[in-house]
Amino acid sequence: DAPDGTDHDPREPLDQIDLQTDRPHSARVYDFIMGGKDNYAADRDTAAQVLADWPGLRTSMLANRACMHRMARHLTGLGMRQFIDVGTGIPSSPNLHEVVQERAPGARIVYVDNDPIVLAHARALLTGTPEGRTAYIQADMRSPGSLLGDPVLEDVLDLSEPVALTLIAVLQFVEDAQALVEALVEPLAPGSHVALTIPTGDLAPESRRLAAEYTRRGIPMYLRDRSEVERLLTGLEILDPGVVPMPRWHPAPGDRPLPDTATNMYAAAARKP
Ligand code: SAH
Repeated sequence: DAPDGTDHDPREPLDQIDLQTDRPHSARVYDFIMGGKDNYAADRDTAAQVLADWPGLRTSMLANRACMHRMARHLTGLGMRQFIDVGTGIPSSPNLHEVVQERAPGARIVYVDNDPIVLAHARALLTGTPEGRTAYIQADMRSPGSLLGDPVLEDVLDLSEPVALTLIAVLQFVEDAQALVEALVEPLAPGSHVALTIPTGDLAPESRRLAAEYTRRGIPMYLRDRSEVERLLTGLEILDPGVVPMPRWHPAPGDRPLPDTATNMYAAAARKP
């Protein structure tokens, strides 16, 4: 066993990691804007430009992280005890498993990301409760079959029982988000849930400029309008309050209300019947 109690030792391949620091990566640009240290010149340069394009980005990213926490709490409250978090990002406490296991110590969480720098920090994601389990898989969500068939995932989760699939600020990086969500949800048991946050040009139209800039710098970014986000959840029961500007998704008591123009993302959660 790995020292963290999982069977999967994320440190093994570290010396083989090629971080490709000469080009920007979405996880590292995000990390820089959020005040982290895991970023390189190419990421900082991109961050400076996209912040110039839309200065609201940092507020929106902070609101996204807060929304992830509320969604994790909400899904735990609905009884979810198994989580697949795709597009985890560089760890930043509290991570999803910390929020979930605080309420449900026996919960099991599988994290997935394709940026090798996230793998390099995966140990911070594997500090779960002794009763529960956490694991990390380096995988590309654009191959949903191999992601869900990964032996680590199969070992940690029981896919015959409901799973909460969280897609937080990640679907903007895939062109056919519809096909991806369908492929990820199809094998999940009835009673499973999907929760997502997803960038749009609807709320803060100036933020469209930053999507174009990411794309120009080799990180293609796709924005969706509200009806496209609803379509992503076809066949699922969308939970209250529907597809809404992120700060409107079950705000916590005492949350400072943000105007709809302050973020560039929708949030939604849905249940598989
Ligand atoms: N979910 C986190 C991080 C969002 S940043 C949060 O909301 O705070 C988006 C993350 O998605 C990055 O870490 C990036 O590496 C990852 N990502 C982008 N494309 C991906 C892909 N094709 N497969 C898996 N992960 C991907």
